[in-house]
Formats: sequence, C-alpha cells, structure tokens
Amino acid sequence: MARIGIIICARYRDCGGGKCFRALRERRGGFARYAADEPVEIVGYSTCGGCPGGNVEDVPAEFRQNGANVIHLATGLVVGYPPCPHLRRFQAYIETVHGLPVVVGTHPIPLKYFEAHRRLPFWTESRMDEVAGELMKEPRGVMEAYN
Ligand code: SF4
Repeated sequence: MARIGIIICARYRDCGGGKCFRALRERRGGFARYAADEPVEIVGYSTCGGCPGGNVEDVPAEFRQNGANVIHLATGLVVGYPPCPHLRRFQAYIETVHGLPVVVGTHPIPLKYFEAHRRLPFWTESRMDEVAGELMKEPRGVMEAYN
C-alpha cells in the first residue's frame, strides 16, 4: 500500500490541493503508477518551507514516522514559474538521507503550462522530460482537462 507524503512549493502555500487530490482519485499524473484498486493514503502534506526549501531537510522524517513509504514532489515545482531550481537536489536528498523514493509530480501538467514551458530553454537544459517523466506520459486531453 502506498502511503504518500506530498511536498508542495511554498509559493503556492495557499493552494487548496484540488488538482492533486483529484489526480490521486483519478490515478493521473504522478499517481498513475498506482492501480485504481490499490489502496493509497496521504500521510503528510507540507510545503518546502520557502526558498531554498529548508523544510525538505526534516519534514520527510515526520512523514516517515507517520508511515510514509513514498514522497511526491508536487507538479508546481515543475511548472510553476520559475520552476524550482532545487528539484533534483530535493529528490537526491530525500532518497539518500531519508531513504524514501521520490516521485516528481502529483497532478498532470495543465496543458497551457506545458505548452508555455516547453518553449523555454530551461526545459531542455534541466532535462525536465526526464526528471518529470511520469508527467510527460499523460495524453494531451488529460493535460487539457487539468487546465
Ligand atoms: S521554488 Fe523550490 S525552493 Fe522555492 S519555494 Fe518553490 S519549491 Fe521551495
């Protein structure tokens, strides 16, 4: 059973989580890896703490104490603007220090953001197609439904 901790970008700290929780219910985006009939549980939800992301140092331990076996970095870190420059460091830190696997992404990338970001140089430079690969598998129609 997946017990999930979610870390969102603190710039969107007031977000109500609607897209993330919808995507979990629909098993889309970063949650497509879980079968529709596989029980999942959100055991923690927090922000990075604000640039440069100091909360990432310790909050995964709290998630883990509450049973987390996987961490999802929210899609806002990928296609907020600017994208989080520390995304890969967060992933490496959590996986190395906390021993928890990290999935980059929660809800599908809204198509309007995908179309905008993929035209910018950083998308290629930061190898976003590879880093957020699970999000790239979504059909355009699904991305559009998350606009
Ligand atoms: S850009 Fe990165 S470090 Fe800055 S607030 Fe967002 S997730 Fe945190």
